[in-house]
Amino acid sequence: MDYQRLLYEKVTNDIVKIMMNRPEARNAQDFLMFEELMDAFDKADMDEDIRVIIFGGVGADFSSGHDMSGRGVSGKGAPLQTKRTGLEGRMKREQYIFYEQGLRQRNVSKPIIAMVQGHCIAGALLNACMCDIIIAADDAIFQNPVLRMTPSGAEILVEPWEMGARKAKEFLWTGDSIDAQEAYRLGLVNRVVPREKLEEETIKLAKKIALTPPITVMLTKRSINRTLDMMGQANSWDYHFLIHQMAHSTDEAANFFKQMLETREKGGLKAFLEKRDAKYGE
Ligand code: ZN
Repeated sequence: MDYQRLLYEKVTNDIVKIMMNRPEARNAQDFLMFEELMDAFDKADMDEDIRVIIFGGVGADFSSGHDMSGRGVSGKGAPLQTKRTGLEGRMKREQYIFYEQGLRQRNVSKPIIAMVQGHCIAGALLNACMCDIIIAADDAIFQNPVLRMTPSGAEILVEPWEMGARKAKEFLWTGDSIDAQEAYRLGLVNRVVPREKLEEETIKLAKKIALTPPITVMLTKRSINRTLDMMGQANSWDYHFLIHQMAHSTDEAANFFKQMLETREKGGLKAFLEKRDAKYGE
């Protein structure tokens, strides 16, 4: 597959870099990007030379999350071609593109290091959390404002696992952002490095992991991920996906998206959110 939304580059013979490459749109994730991500992670998993995968974004930001502009919905892949509408159509689409892509990324047999700079928002936070290790630049900002848009966070609810249930509720209910140091304090990221050293430090760590026999790295990843599953992670995500569909199906959500489509034509999504926030703040 030739990639339009990604860069797939070998750093060394045993380390590959998969980079979201849509910097003009803050690496907003459209359907084509998700299809390419599935292909790229499978490719890296199947390549026997590769021991460690680095996942990042080209430009100032890791990613602003799902593309909400309405321009990026291509859906070349057969499972996206659904005649179904309403809950059934959306659930089918989201199951394939957001939920299963996330799980496939999480279950890649090799270690994945997320390299995060700038904004890492909502769906992008989901994708960062599907990695085994997260290295943050000191300018990284994490946020999931999706509840303000009525769905229940992203399709896979990572927050309780990443920052604890109590902080997760505050983070999701307010939509407030946290910076790199706070993310480190919460255990969401492994370490914080200066922005200009992000790639260098990430590659240094990848090289170190690549010194450990690949089979023991893989088996240990499998064991730790299965431990999380036994603690309930997989079941909680499956449950949350249905809750997410329920939230999408409310009158509140229908009103929100109707107004968003109308105002997107006039003043853009940002103008709409500013207007909505003013109303909610009264
Ligand atoms: Zn959704």
